[in-house]
Amino acid sequence: MTHMHVAGSIHADTVTPAPKWLSTPVDVNALNPKLWSQTVVRNAEGALEVGGLDVREIVERVDTPAYVMDEVDFRARARAFRDAFSGWDVYYAAKSFLCTISARWIAEEGLCMDVCSGNELTVALAGGMPAARIGFHGNNKTVAELTQAVEAGVGRIIIDSMTEIERLQAICAEREVTARVMVRVTAGVEAHTHEYIATAHEDQKFGLSITGGQALEGLLACHAAPNIELRGVHSHIGSQIFETAGFEVAIRRTLELHRAFLDATGEHLPELDLGGGFGIAYIAADQPRSAEHLAGAMQALVHRECRGLELDQVPHLSIEPGRAISGTPGMALYRVGTVKMVTLAEGVQRCYVSVDGGMSDNIRPALYGAEYSATLASRASDAGPLLCRVVGKHCESGDILVRDEFLPADIAPGDLIAVPAAGAYSRSMASNYNHALKPPVVGVRDGELRTLIRRETMQDLLALDAGWTPDA
Ligand SMILES: *Cc1c(COP(=O)(O)O)cnc(C)c1O
Repeated sequence: MTHMHVAGSIHADTVTPAPKWLSTPVDVNALNPKLWSQTVVRNAEGALEVGGLDVREIVERVDTPAYVMDEVDFRARARAFRDAFSGWDVYYAAKSFLCTISARWIAEEGLCMDVCSGNELTVALAGGMPAARIGFHGNNKTVAELTQAVEAGVGRIIIDSMTEIERLQAICAEREVTARVMVRVTAGVEAHTHEYIATAHEDQKFGLSITGGQALEGLLACHAAPNIELRGVHSHIGSQIFETAGFEVAIRRTLELHRAFLDATGEHLPELDLGGGFGIAYIAADQPRSAEHLAGAMQALVHRECRGLELDQVPHLSIEPGRAISGTPGMALYRVGTVKMVTLAEGVQRCYVSVDGGMSDNIRPALYGAEYSATLASRASDAGPLLCRVVGKHCESGDILVRDEFLPADIAPGDLIAVPAAGAYSRSMASNYNHALKPPVVGVRDGELRTLIRRETMQDLLALDAGWTPDA
């Protein structure tokens, strides 16, 4: 028989309130530059400023919760990838953050763009992204989506299954056009935050297996399809990768596949895409690499493997950064509603700071344990640091935004909290749980604020509810 643990029965000496990576700050008001977009400062009044605007003014104008996107920083990160990877194609992964205005920024900065659905494609095109610079991804693109992509003339479609090759061939034949494709493969390596695992089994839904032989089979099927122009192999090994070691295995295996294709057909595959997943700093312990470092290391690995495999034509290369462009420029702003001390054990307490958002506007901590940071944004404080947990207002105890962070001990209802590195996979993964209204995204630049995506309203939600009859 098992016994329920009584709350509070945890032994005090088994509780470690602060994780190892989080040290007590000397100055709880200090900002760690690697976490924040480049225009963020704490101003003379102690409040955060971004894009030349005091966050208190931003909140006065758009309320909380809200996402703030620093246009200067977003564009700078896009340019940094484009410049460091010059000679490569850089596809911004739109799923990390997409609206028509951000699509225009990407287009203006000269990058290409990846979309993962017909609806993302519609937004990218509406934002002025040229179709020829768009790549279309997805493990289950519908016939309607493939048709939309072909008719729009997207630059490449990333094939994810044998079924899709037949579908695409039929769609193109009917319209007497040719589609350029890459074949997504699983290279048997999966990257995680601080390590990578070379897996024997490729137990996931994306791509065609190299070791299982389906990848070569898929390449040959594309090669044989009259209305498909095969460009090369695509590999995306994961996300939040800090070391290029994971790419080393992927580069070797994908180029071995290029070699096998050459041996089978006598033809070189002209392109290779190495995917995205470049890590950013969500917390102080994260050590992201610069775009220059990544470019140099990846370039060297490709050349070394090509030599080893006697591939005398080095393929044209591309990458697909998402969060490394859109993550750091964005911050989330919340207002503190309640502050509660919870006793974990005799003498051990945790401070729960509840804010007016939560898992509906950032699902990543609840979904896969992602770590974030936070700071008191509306004022500086003389109080000492207190280990806090920043939680949302939803009906789940897993509704955590920032698991562990030091905030000033006088944190109180009404204070504003800013969460850095919230530009990617926050608004794009937002939900209406508890009928939460999705927060707006505002762009800031040179003291000017403009709405990129407006706040959802109760009218927006009720418009979907067929049983709702508005009072006349
Ligand atoms: C999500 C995704 C990316 C971008 O991942 P980040 O971690 O945001 O860089 C790139 N390529 C593919 C195929 C993806 O699915």
